[in-house]
Amino acid sequence: MMTALEVITNEVAACTKCSELVFNRLNTVPGEGNLKARLMVFGESPGQTEAELGRPFVGESGKLLDNIFKACGWQREKLFITNIVKCRPPNNRVPYVTEQENCRSFLDRQIEEIDPKFLLLLGATATEAIFGLPFGMVRGDIHDLNGKFVLPTYHPSYLLRNPEAKSIVWEHLQKLVVLIDKDGGL
Ligand code: SF4
Repeated sequence: MMTALEVITNEVAACTKCSELVFNRLNTVPGEGNLKARLMVFGESPGQTEAELGRPFVGESGKLLDNIFKACGWQREKLFITNIVKCRPPNNRVPYVTEQENCRSFLDRQIEEIDPKFLLLLGATATEAIFGLPFGMVRGDIHDLNGKFVLPTYHPSYLLRNPEAKSIVWEHLQKLVVLIDKDGGL
């Protein structure tokens, strides 16, 4: 019998709601990881490498993210990692609001099934989609979202372009590391 998350994965693979994304699609990238993760990580949308492999955060941004996780003492396999949009937009453009809305039910169902206590939002698009406030207003602090703890911070692709911002992200993440440790870890 399939788990609810496998059902979502299959529905994503068959989804044709966003015609431009479907036309250019290599693979859908539904997300992966621990189905009982206490920490869920959200990016914007898959890039080229992710679309080729059907896995989230496996390109250059993903390598940097893995290093960030290691520095935080988090094992990737304990987390669930996904994007707010499951198909790659052409030329890595920001997914249109209509595409974000089309994909929203998959995201909401994943969050409901996994029911994480902590959410890490990477970048403005994921933050504004999930948290509903401008990134500049909320980044870097822990917020309450319906009883869950949410930390919005910069996307690793931003850090690849602006390596000097790594120390800022590190400061942001320390707040989450401390909170998770106090709460018994991952
Ligand atoms: Fe469907 Fe989401 Fe892909 Fe759009 S981005 S086609 S809603 S799976």
